[in-house]
Amino acid sequence: MRHLLVLGAGTAGTTLVNKMRGLLADDEWAITIVDARTEHHYQPGYLFIPFERYTPSQVTKPQSGFIPAGVSWITADVEEIRPDDNLAVLGDGSTLEYDQLVIATGATPRPDQTPGMTGSEWRKSVFDFYTLEGATALRDALAKWDGGRLVVHITETPIKCPVAPLEFSFLADSWFRQRGMRDRVEIVYVTPLDGAFTKPIASKQLGGMLEDRDIGVETDFYVEQVDNDRKLLVSYDEREIPFDLLVTVPLNMGAEFIARSGLGDELNYVPVDPGTFLSKAWDNIFAIGDAADLPTSKAGSVAHFAVEVFGENFIHHVAGEPMPIRFDGHANCFVESGDGKGLLIDFNYETEPLPGKYPLPVVGPFSLLDETRINHLGKLMFKTIYWNALLPGRKVPLPALMSMAGKKVPESESEESSRKEALL
Ligand SMILES: Cc1cc2nc3c(=O)[nH]c(=O)nc-3n(C[C@H](O)[C@H](O)[C@H](O)COP(=O)(O)OP(=O)(O)OC[C@H]3O[C@@H](n4cnc5c(N)ncnc54)[C@H](O)[C@@H]3O)c2cc1C
Repeated sequence: MRHLLVLGAGTAGTTLVNKMRGLLADDEWAITIVDARTEHHYQPGYLFIPFERYTPSQVTKPQSGFIPAGVSWITADVEEIRPDDNLAVLGDGSTLEYDQLVIATGATPRPDQTPGMTGSEWRKSVFDFYTLEGATALRDALAKWDGGRLVVHITETPIKCPVAPLEFSFLADSWFRQRGMRDRVEIVYVTPLDGAFTKPIASKQLGGMLEDRDIGVETDFYVEQVDNDRKLLVSYDEREIPFDLLVTVPLNMGAEFIARSGLGDELNYVPVDPGTFLSKAWDNIFAIGDAADLPTSKAGSVAHFAVEVFGENFIHHVAGEPMPIRFDGHANCFVESGDGKGLLIDFNYETEPLPGKYPLPVVGPFSLLDETRINHLGKLMFKTIYWNALLPGRKVPLPALMSMAGKKVPESESEESSRKEALL
């Protein structure tokens, strides 16, 4: 009997054990999953809590409902991995042996890593919405807020769902307008990037949307500290940004045990082959979802597509054969833009988000990089799909690898690719 051990029962880990229990014979493979929590969180739902669109109970469910029969489930903190001995050490000192290990412990907001962020103003005028507690505290603060300067801030990249702070800004603009207080609120978007997003075409589109909504943008801002007494964000190059209400996305990092086990990079993400998720250091350790150092967005969609690719590859890998499928970094995200509209972006390691249509039978097509009502409905519908199809590992009719169908390649890029093709 061989043992597949999965650390982390979030989007990636839970989907993965559901898929793998169906693929691996019960009498050949035992599967165990470990997580510190007994509650599963639908993190994309955090975005809507501050604006009273969702309640905390709509974005959480008991994890027990998603662990399939034939998978052992352990509630514990993972303390360390000893790859030389094929062992994982848990918080109570007990150990679990494995033949194959999958690290799926995600990325965690770490406000403690920025001086002053968790100081005297934390959860008074300094908030995050990347945790359930943060989103709920922010909801209560916004309900009482009378207006002033709202600063939406990204500490450092990569962050999970890199469009979420933009969505927060668009929703805030819409929410303040609906409450008749937009004229009493100045919104400023502060980012370490040189534009609204990492990729140029989407950055231009999303940057234009900030401008249209009269949201100021401060780029290339690397925060050094939060000054609680003067209510300022202070950067390394000595710029100061005053706030009345700061909504920050703290530094995101992988789990501490990854660093303790010597398996991580400087942010505790596990270096892997981006096509197969196999650790660069160990050939029986994989990292999947946000825990891996993949050069694509940290997103639930990526975790889902990655698991689709992982299943078949794993069967070949444990049979000593080459893994047949290479993941392309496929990500797609609905971007809520306020007033019941949204955009959709679809991209991979090579192709940046492009305009056009995203074909989907029955409910689609969805417009890419264009604000529509159906994209907003798609975003809301996704919660139901997540709980009922994606997490339980059922087939979701979305291709794991990105397709160019429907996408419009801008002139300059198609000329460039024809030139490249002509040279080959
Ligand atoms: C505000 C917000 C909005 C988002 N919106 C979107 C969106 O619109 N679309 C999208 O695709 N994605 C979105 N995401 C991102 C998405 O939620 C994550 O990318 C996805 O959950 C990653 O899955 P994962 O399994 O890698 O990590 P997670 O789902 O975070 O799971 C990690 C699990 O590991 C456990 N764990 C961590 N450390 C330990 C330890 N030491 N011991 C035991 N257990 C541990 C945790 O308890 C957790 O259950 C959003 C995220 C946020 C925060």
